[in-house]
Amino acid sequence: MTTRVFFVPSLVPLILASFASFTFGGCDSLRAGKDAALSALSERVPVPVVEQLDNSSWKGLRPTLKLMEDADSEADLVALAEPLTSVGERLGAPVARWNLHIVISPEPNAFALPGGTIAVHSGLFALSPTGEELVGALGHEVGHVVGRHGVEGLVTRAGASIALSLLMGDLGAFTQIALEQTVGLTLLKFSRDQEREADTLGVDLLQKARYPVHGLPTFFRGLQAMEAGRTGDLPAFAKKSLSLLSTHPMSEERAANLDVLSKGTAQGSPDAKEVTLLPAEQRARYARLRSKVLASLTPEEREKHDAVVKAFSVSGVKATTPEGTR
Ligand SMILES: [Zn+2]
Repeated sequence: MTTRVFFVPSLVPLILASFASFTFGGCDSLRAGKDAALSALSERVPVPVVEQLDNSSWKGLRPTLKLMEDADSEADLVALAEPLTSVGERLGAPVARWNLHIVISPEPNAFALPGGTIAVHSGLFALSPTGEELVGALGHEVGHVVGRHGVEGLVTRAGASIALSLLMGDLGAFTQIALEQTVGLTLLKFSRDQEREADTLGVDLLQKARYPVHGLPTFFRGLQAMEAGRTGDLPAFAKKSLSLLSTHPMSEERAANLDVLSKGTAQGSPDAKEVTLLPAEQRARYARLRSKVLASLTPEEREKHDAVVKAFSVSGVKATTPEGTR
């Protein structure tokens, strides 16, 4: 029966589910089957193809962004992320080379492309005085890369016939269609399931890197409070800038999950409980990097950054202290 419906796009979930049961010998539910099949299909896309998709997407995005083009600062960001990215590689991230960039924007955002290109906004530096929120967000982004979420999205959107060609080992058709889809922001839209997985992977990555975990829930809870208007009147640009939540949809359930994950980490390991700050060398690196990022802002940009930081600080979610997550 399934051979006759392979080319009907609306039956993608059914096909993916049947592939999953073929591969894994049965699943608890269609949903679980679909996720397992998507993972299995995305793993068939080799690193050079993921790299090609990543490069193509970055080429499209880059002209729309104001970058802080300072080699020393990018090198510092690479070094700050290194404990996370090296764990990510051990966990199977499809990355030939990690490329980290700093985007000048008051929006406290960060995003990741499928092959290890990660951009961090200056607004995230501004609201993270000692770096825990920033490395928390980095952990989440590396989690998206490890989870192959961008590739999964492309497989889903490419349709059933492409899924079949991947299954048969034919990468050509997938690559062609996927490259067309990397234009614009399509790679930055993740499902709620993928967000939850990026949180779980992010907490795991932070813990394995011996980085503090608490900045991840603090950061997302602060953004959630800002979006919900619990921070008073935000300037119009700041309201508009809260697009992090549209690329990383936050739900109460997800926030609760993050709290459980981060508390479980602290309680599960006596050592992890002590990790409330970055290691001294990384803390010094972060302080230097943050100063340079903030010093590079124009007075007008600085004003906008300050407004977002103020809104975050009155969100009721206290940044940079573990107590803020309790
Ligand atoms: Zn996300």
